[in-house]
Amino acid sequence: MKIFVIANQKGGVGKTTTTMNLGASLAARKKKVLVIDMDPQSNLSSGLGFTQQFDKQSWNTADEAPYKNIYDVLVEGDSISSVFVSTSTENLFLVPSHLSLAGAEIEMVNMLTRESLLKKAISKMSEDFDYVIIDCPPSLGLLTINALSAADYLLIPIQCEYFALEGLGQLIETTKLIKGINPKLVIGGVILTMYDSRTKLSENVVSDVKEFFKDTAFKTVVPRNVRLSEAPSYGQTIFQYDDKSTGALAYKNLANEFIKRFKV
Ligand code: ADP
Ligand code: MG
Repeated sequence: MKIFVIANQKGGVGKTTTTMNLGASLAARKKKVLVIDMDPQSNLSSGLGFTQQFDKQSWNTADEAPYKNIYDVLVEGDSISSVFVSTSTENLFLVPSHLSLAGAEIEMVNMLTRESLLKKAISKMSEDFDYVIIDCPPSLGLLTINALSAADYLLIPIQCEYFALEGLGQLIETTKLIKGINPKLVIGGVILTMYDSRTKLSENVVSDVKEFFKDTAFKTVVPRNVRLSEAPSYGQTIFQYDDKSTGALAYKNLANEFIKRFKV
């Protein structure tokens, strides 16, 4: 079982879109995949259609969740096995999040092993998955630190936009600090997202990133594709929503490259 964390403290760079569609694409290749939503905003959970099973009202408040979620794992000590759900994509499973997770960072501060709560929960999991992929919130707080501490490989999505590389130094520094608790953690790959072939800027970001990260950068670049942004509002992956789109093709190619690189 290989564990990946998708992190970048910048918001809107494609962390959730990548977790969801890379996960779905690997699942289509017969890999058993667990995605974990560590963001209180719960975009991954709703993008995978999880909201629809539940009362919208309670979803949108910080009240107690009507279903078990990652908060119960981190703060209440529930097992991942008792919390994860299957999704409408075969072989793709989800540990959902809930807005109440927003308070977890504060509650976790006084817990003894606060940086490694997720790691401990994953190590106790009785199921075996080929890949576990953890989606992070847009910060370097305790939730992201738990995700980094639990993973073998860090995947960094970078948006082909202005200031794309801004803040990356901080992420890499944090990763080095995490090695104190989790010596295994390495950068597994950099994924360029929202590439716009019409702009010189996108092209420049791609060449800067490839120069800086060399082979760590995946050859597959995810284009800007409106279908990718529409799919989550239907609770669907890109393959369920529009399998013929350029976004779907990109995430298929990314999964191929990913499987070759990580050999599971
Ligand atoms: P993050 O999780 O890093 O905050 P998201 O994956 O939620 O980023 O992406 C931010 C927004 O951009 C979302 O509305 C998403 O649907 C959209 N988006 C992500 N990737 C693409 C893409 N390749 N093309 C078009 N829109 C995208
Ligand atoms: Mg997100």
